[in-house]
Amino acid sequence: MLTESEIVIIGGSVGGLSAARALTQAGWSVRVLEKASQVSSPTGAGLGLDSISAQVIKDLGLQEPFLSVSASLELEAYRWVDPRPRPSKAVTLVENWEHHHRSMLWSDLHKMLLKSLPQDILHFGHEVIGIDDQCESGGKVKVTAVSGGQRKEFVCSAVVAADGINSFARRQFVCEDKKRYSGMIAWRGVVDASTQPQLLQKLQEDFHHLGNAIIFDIGMDCMNLIYMLPGALINYLWYRSVPEEPDLKGQSVTLQASKDEIAKMITDAEATWTPAFVDLIKATEKPFVNVIYDKDPLSKWVYGRVALVGEAAHCTTPHGSRSTNMSIQDAGALLECFRRHAGDRDAVAALQEFQHIRLPATSREVLFSRHVGELRQGRWVDPQHFSWPDASPEAKALLLNAKRSESDYKQHASEILQKLCEASRPPIPLAIPTN
Ligand SMILES: Cc1cc2nc3c(=O)[nH]c(=O)nc-3n(C[C@H](O)[C@H](O)[C@H](O)COP(=O)(O)OP(=O)(O)OC[C@H]3O[C@@H](n4cnc5c(N)ncnc54)[C@H](O)[C@@H]3O)c2cc1C
Repeated sequence: MLTESEIVIIGGSVGGLSAARALTQAGWSVRVLEKASQVSSPTGAGLGLDSISAQVIKDLGLQEPFLSVSASLELEAYRWVDPRPRPSKAVTLVENWEHHHRSMLWSDLHKMLLKSLPQDILHFGHEVIGIDDQCESGGKVKVTAVSGGQRKEFVCSAVVAADGINSFARRQFVCEDKKRYSGMIAWRGVVDASTQPQLLQKLQEDFHHLGNAIIFDIGMDCMNLIYMLPGALINYLWYRSVPEEPDLKGQSVTLQASKDEIAKMITDAEATWTPAFVDLIKATEKPFVNVIYDKDPLSKWVYGRVALVGEAAHCTTPHGSRSTNMSIQDAGALLECFRRHAGDRDAVAALQEFQHIRLPATSREVLFSRHVGELRQGRWVDPQHFSWPDASPEAKALLLNAKRSESDYKQHASEILQKLCEASRPPIPLAIPTN
């Protein structure tokens, strides 16, 4: 069976659905192919969207549902937590954190986008196994998917590939496509504190501004962050240095924590963090583990009639909370570019303009996130990792001088806190030209 549309989007997660919303708003016909029969979030948790993403969501006509499922985070705080003697901590607040965030559950964001689209354009349970951009029907692309053991073909003018870190499209068009293991894993969890008032009170006494702030605890070779989601949900991530890349089974980089890992989390938390955070870990029913990767920025995303977007285009570590923000901001740029070409129906020109706008900004974001992650972990790193033209010489020098010994940590604590506050700069605007 052959199905025609102007654009085929591969991937029905946040990147794919926000792109679909943008393109339909701009008046283009779209099909979304998603390999999972249902995109649910057994290991999903919370995320923070910045003010630029909030503006894009408004432009996509979704402000009302967005505000109803998200909560405001107006402050950013860094604490230096010294394991011995515990629990001593130095606190630095980022003043004037103008571009404040809104926190929400990933699954609520996904549901909101899903609901905003005509249901007949969504093809779940369709895994893309072929993209033929040289097919005989000139100026068209043929996308082959498998669904329920059957092959299905989709013909379109252009493909937008939002198929994530292990993107099929990216493998087809980019020769060197390696993930970079960051040397870190993150333990993550969400705890519903509405039924545990004592826990909530203890956390609020320790983590001042919890409810209105995202709070980072910097420790020895590790870091955690904590913030609240709507309701009394508490979201945390604990980044740990693990030099050996974990042996992942399958393609997912997120795994349910095993019993042994949970026991280790509790023992290590007791030796590292304040008692309130230890209680939070103990209260987590199902913690999970993320193995942290990114990829070096690409020099192009558009290959003929096929373009990469979202995580497929700019795979990043989560340290700058950029991943979902960048995917949504990609959709903002797609909306503008496809609107501009609504008259001439030139999808390839729209995609080229999209690449022109977004590629330099996201490349900086990926390296910024890498930089902040290393800094928070107190790493000694090769400055080559931040070699995008805009990486500041100061940042490189600081990273080279980052020390690892415990006494150095203490000596450099205030300097690193200061640098983290300075690095906490507003996100890069979309900068869409007005002509
Ligand atoms: C189930 C799930 C839960 C998540 N939970 C969180 C969270 O709690 N917090 C957070 O910050 N981030 C979370 N993320 C990650 C977040 O969505 C992304 O990092 C970011 O938003 C970029 O999104 P993306 O759509 O570009 O990529 P991804 O979210 O990685 O989505 C890629 C999509 O493409 C589909 N796909 C891959 N290959 C094919 C193929 N050949 N054919 C068809 N479809 C294909 C995948 O099934 C997936 O749905 C989650 C992602 C998923 C998939």
